[in-house]
Amino acid sequence: MDKYDTLRHYFGHESFRAGQETMVDALLGGRDALGVMPTGAGKSMCYQVPALMLPGITLVISPLISLMADQVAALRSAGVPAAYLNSALTPRQMDIALERAYQGQYKIIYVAPERLETASFLHFAQSVEISMVAVDEAHCVSQWGQDFRPVYLRIADFVDALPRRPVMGAFTATATRRVREDIIRQLRLIDPAGVTTGFDRPNLYFEVVRPKHRDPALMQVLAGRQGQSGIVYCSTRKQVEKVCDMLCASGFAASRYHAGLSDEERKRNQEDFQYDRVQVMVATNAFGMGIDKSNVRYVIHYNMPRSMEAYYQEAGRAGRDGEPGECILLYMAQDIVTAKWMINNGDPNPALSAAEQAEVRRQDLQRLQSMIDYCTREHCLRTYILRYFGETGTGDCGDCGHCTGGRYGEAATADRPARTRRTAAMAGVDQAPVDSALFEKLRMVRTALAKVWHVPPYVICSDAALTSMCRVRPVTPERMLQVSGMGEVKTARYGEAFMSVIRQQESPQAPASAVAERTARRAAAAVPEPAAADGEATDDLFEQLRAVRMALAKEEGVFAFRICSDATLTGMCRVRPVTPEMMLQVSGMGEVKTARYGEAFMSVIRRQEGGVRRTTKPDRPAASPSPGKAVPQKERVVSFTAAAPPPSEVILPRAGDDASLTEAYLSGATIQQMAEALGIPAAQIRQRLQKLGLIF
Ligand SMILES: [Zn+2]
Repeated sequence: MDKYDTLRHYFGHESFRAGQETMVDALLGGRDALGVMPTGAGKSMCYQVPALMLPGITLVISPLISLMADQVAALRSAGVPAAYLNSALTPRQMDIALERAYQGQYKIIYVAPERLETASFLHFAQSVEISMVAVDEAHCVSQWGQDFRPVYLRIADFVDALPRRPVMGAFTATATRRVREDIIRQLRLIDPAGVTTGFDRPNLYFEVVRPKHRDPALMQVLAGRQGQSGIVYCSTRKQVEKVCDMLCASGFAASRYHAGLSDEERKRNQEDFQYDRVQVMVATNAFGMGIDKSNVRYVIHYNMPRSMEAYYQEAGRAGRDGEPGECILLYMAQDIVTAKWMINNGDPNPALSAAEQAEVRRQDLQRLQSMIDYCTREHCLRTYILRYFGETGTGDCGDCGHCTGGRYGEAATADRPARTRRTAAMAGVDQAPVDSALFEKLRMVRTALAKVWHVPPYVICSDAALTSMCRVRPVTPERMLQVSGMGEVKTARYGEAFMSVIRQQESPQAPASAVAERTARRAAAAVPEPAAADGEATDDLFEQLRAVRMALAKEEGVFAFRICSDATLTGMCRVRPVTPEMMLQVSGMGEVKTARYGEAFMSVIRRQEGGVRRTTKPDRPAASPSPGKAVPQKERVVSFTAAAPPPSEVILPRAGDDASLTEAYLSGATIQQMAEALGIPAAQIRQRLQKLGLIF
């Protein structure tokens, strides 16, 4: 296989991105290489492709322990034999991993720099063939960077101790000349091929807003973003708490992340965000190093960060899937005072002498000045960023706050045309020829696959790949391979699950989703026809939705609040969703809940919408919760047993494994049906589904 075959086979891409090929060619040709690329520019491809083609093992040295498991999961999911060795493993797991590594079972091994110094690892490295050493976050070797790690200084000694010097690749997103020179010297790179590229992210929109007050400005940027994934960065823990509370109170599913929380809570909150259980993460800059989430639609900086490096790295977490993302910075003059204070009073780095400390501080202040210039000067923001990172930006980009007049600043609210431009631009994205119903179904398949394979959904495939599937509509593995991001391994592993959904939609004879039909019938059973009940009472949507919830809860054998909260029902009254996409906008209704219960609620809403149209009641107030208007619920709830579908409509689990259970559950099988099919107690099924995250 040549490099293109490798790229296609494992990663499903047809061509390399800018700069990647130069790096790949250098490393394959035995020449060291130094890549200066921002996060998200695809730097991992630069060493993963050669790693698969070179004869021996590639070691990837990375300080980001939290990221390793995900990177390895992503590689394994693409069929690449990979492993990681770090302090997260137990001694026993470490032994097993090393034993397999000795046997040559891995092509790529991620390793924390501290590990290089252990005798067992050194012995291993000296007795197998190491073809390449890739050093990630290579700026950590430089004493002039903020992330200096003394242990990085010993990487070169480790490499020298190997029987044969492997080719070395170093990667960093920090681009100052001094740091670059330091990397070459400290890692003892030999005449490295240098690539500085990929800093332009055409799908990202940049704007600096200079508000009088931050909170209203933040809410303006967030307006209409319920349901979208995003990050709000604040500079202090206190602000994180305050902003998170504010967002929760405004109906956003927000979570928080800062160094003051327990490890356990940080881990939980991060996972909630990663798995789309919450939409907004409010965080200090402590958040993000371990995050590789592709569908972040916006990154808002509540304060000005202290350097362009930090800003661009954080802002760059938006739009990793290639879809539009917005990076909005709220700048106020007092940010300068705070930042200077933090630089002058920060914890000293114990590894540096007093003179070196002073030099580092001077450089920090210099970096701060560049950041201030970004926020305060009149210039194209994208061009400024590209020039800062050593790339050539030319004139105005035509798509940043400066070039368009802004979407969120004061000018934007006062100035209608700027607003209109935005709406038009957003509409253009929405009108892209993608069947949104199909997209939602594919997304649910991905969620289910992720649960089964125990990986985050983006490891299965990106949103961009799903969009591509909607366009290509593959129904054979050959066609699936034409979907960008679906290589041979992924197609073999996950292809059929996606294709069966597409086939069902393509074939006109195929019945509409069994789930939809069934749940619609359920809802009909749960709520009486408008004509059959008291007119006033049926107008009360909240009460009707509550009845649906109660009926669903009864069938699932869970408490009603496990189906959804009152706040979620209120959200439904406001949004009045009649499609799954709209339902996903309702806070508290994630993908699984929408798939499972959405149709039941929507059929009631649809019926009411229809009823309203027929009666053409003038000035009908929007339905809102009015608990005072109690309706005797008991009489309304019709037992579900009568409405349960014949088993032929749902898929019953053939075996008790995770995949079968997930498939059955998503097809609409009840817990009772699944229990009977497998001959095990319902409680046990419920427990398994809870563990799979399908019920709550
Ligand atoms: Zn511009």
